[in-house]
Amino acid sequence: CGIFGAIGVADASNFVALGLHALQHRGQEAGGIVTHDPEHGFNSAHRFGYVRDNFTKPDVMSTLPGPLAIGHVRYSTAGTKANTAIRDVQPFFGEFHMGGCAIAHNGNITNASALRRELIERGSIFQSSSDSECIIHLMARSIQRNIPERMKDALRRVEGAFSVIAMTRTKLIGVRDALGVRPLVVGRVGEDGYVLASETCALDIIGADFLREVEPGEMVVISKGKIESSRPFGPSTGRFCIFEHVYFSRPDSIIGGRSVYETRRQIGVELAREAPVEADLVCPVPDSGTPAAIGYAQESGIPYGMGIIRNQYMGRTFIEPSEQIRNMGVRLKLNVNRALIAGKRVVLVDDSVVRGTTSRKIKDMILDAGAAEVHFRIASPPTAWPCFYGVDTPDRDKLLAANMTPDQMRDWIGVDSLSFVSLDGLYRAVGEATGRNSACPQYCDACFSGDYPVAPFDQLERGFRM
Ligand code: 5GP
Ligand code: SF4
Ligand code: MG
Repeated sequence: CGIFGAIGVADASNFVALGLHALQHRGQEAGGIVTHDPEHGFNSAHRFGYVRDNFTKPDVMSTLPGPLAIGHVRYSTAGTKANTAIRDVQPFFGEFHMGGCAIAHNGNITNASALRRELIERGSIFQSSSDSECIIHLMARSIQRNIPERMKDALRRVEGAFSVIAMTRTKLIGVRDALGVRPLVVGRVGEDGYVLASETCALDIIGADFLREVEPGEMVVISKGKIESSRPFGPSTGRFCIFEHVYFSRPDSIIGGRSVYETRRQIGVELAREAPVEADLVCPVPDSGTPAAIGYAQESGIPYGMGIIRNQYMGRTFIEPSEQIRNMGVRLKLNVNRALIAGKRVVLVDDSVVRGTTSRKIKDMILDAGAAEVHFRIASPPTAWPCFYGVDTPDRDKLLAANMTPDQMRDWIGVDSLSFVSLDGLYRAVGEATGRNSACPQYCDACFSGDYPVAPFDQLERGFRM
């Protein structure tokens, strides 16, 4: 999901709408904005579909006045997937005796089922199927006297991954879990405006200056032009999601001081060193494979070309929740550039293989177009484990790499060769010169390694084996 908040600006909802538009790649199912204004109190709008189709309309935006606003774009990872209800769309809102509070959450709470059970037993009435709603109910049960303290109480009971943006009548609040699995940054805009955003690309769109990242385990409370920082969860070292670098974030964002584009290009360089092949053409599977394909071509000296053309009017296929739509999605989105491909030995570079659906269809299309050979190069290690921290990977039985060796995968996809970047190669590409520190890994890489930095409590209860 993508989250954005703004304080101290006229018509904060316009900033939030723009910020969410820049974060649309993080969630395309639905979006919501909550605002506050001394005259009109809290107001909100929640809609299915793209930001640009909803939060540009005067009849929606005129209902969202005020200098303080937060928003969310949704990509369902928990709860009922095929049929997201509008009541599952964030931000969520709670009214406490010290005033209202809205929250927007990116990540996944790994003990949400257990918490929900406990809260319902004690009288909470849930409105949605979302794991994030637990936070509001835990806040309601806290005995603290102000909302930031109640949030701390609530989040200390929550396990898993969370970056949260919240607002009261006067404050904008940002928090990251102790490991800082999901991103969150602070920016400055105008005279005394501040913004919080999932990624820096959302600062660029509104002309905000990047100030810094919210640190793992940090809470920032912004009001009256000042930022207060605290560390509610004690000392910790971060384990940022390495897959944000591979796929999830936008290539024009800066994470941990590094350009995501440059990291992806570097993964391609590592791949070319680890898995060279004789070929005539390097093609990306657009858009997610593009920077790595550029790196592969540069390092190998094989010409780069656009052998697959992407229809710009389609979203991210993977993020369409139903299997059927996803299957159709590949052809709706991608087509082969026959004139370029015919007769050539082609290296295809993509960011990841999950179910293998995309790779298999693309291979068919490329061979139909007359390619002489097809070699797949993948800019991440085999995805053999599900993510429980906010990226929608399927169960293990649907993950190709959990059920096949790389050779079996090559034969199942039907290509001449298939190679994945190594885990150490990926770490080098994100700037860790000596690779992965196995005693104390610098990132979360559980979907590749099975090394889960937070035990997935609910999943273990359901019989998942680590
Ligand atoms: P597959 O077809 O193998 O199931 O999916 C792989 C494709 O899905 C890749 O092209 C990748 O760009 C895309 N993708 C989109 N979202 C995700 C995601 O959340 N996780 C992973 N691993 N791949 C994703
Ligand atoms: Fe990111 Fe993978 Fe960890 Fe999920 S399991 S947070 S996708 S690195
Ligand atoms: Mg892709």
